[in-house]
Amino acid sequence: MSISQEDLFKIALNLEHPWYITLIDFSAEEKQLDIHVDFESGSNFPCANCGKSSCSVHDTIERTWRHLNFFQFKTYIHCRVPRTECEDCGVKQVKVPWARKGSGFTLLMDSLIVLMAQHMTVTAIAEMIDEHDTRIWRVLEHYVLDARSQEDFSKVKSVGVDETSRAKGHKYVSVFIDLDKSKVVHVCEGKDASTIESFRTDLELHKGSSKNINNFCCDTSPAFIS
Ligand SMILES: [Zn+2]
Repeated sequence: MSISQEDLFKIALNLEHPWYITLIDFSAEEKQLDIHVDFESGSNFPCANCGKSSCSVHDTIERTWRHLNFFQFKTYIHCRVPRTECEDCGVKQVKVPWARKGSGFTLLMDSLIVLMAQHMTVTAIAEMIDEHDTRIWRVLEHYVLDARSQEDFSKVKSVGVDETSRAKGHKYVSVFIDLDKSKVVHVCEGKDASTIESFRTDLELHKGSSKNINNFCCDTSPAFIS
């Protein structure tokens, strides 16, 4: 049994029916690998909005995503993404399995960025993968907001707060820590009493309550004590 390079990349990218690879274009000169993906004609897709199955394809849009490098070669996935016609939602772009909605990176690229961001500065990541840092920040913002929205502070009852300067001189941030879990639960600008209000609002947005707090440790700054 022989296996084509298209099939190999299909396995590497974890693509399933109706997606398949039409062309792999490798340029040693440009140090670039372009993988062209298409879908089998006549395929139906679920509506990306309501999930209704078997919607017919209305038209397609050409899109490109940056993928993980294969060795030192910058890798891009190109695909004409179908837009489905849904009775209830109208024309909607299909969710592709390799990227989240609106992102110019594949999910694997996203996960690499999130992993690297735990150990490196955004500037260093941007340099390493040769992308503008605003693109990196957008990825991080998406996942951080997503993770934050799922936080549950209902069991937070011991809180410590400390202030730190985020730039030489005057810019202060206050960091609130769940002392039972040794976990940062809130960070905000400033070091005065308004930060307590900011913490309380955030606590209540995530199922917590100031009434549960029976242990609060802070430094001796007069603003906090007030
Ligand atoms: Zn729909």
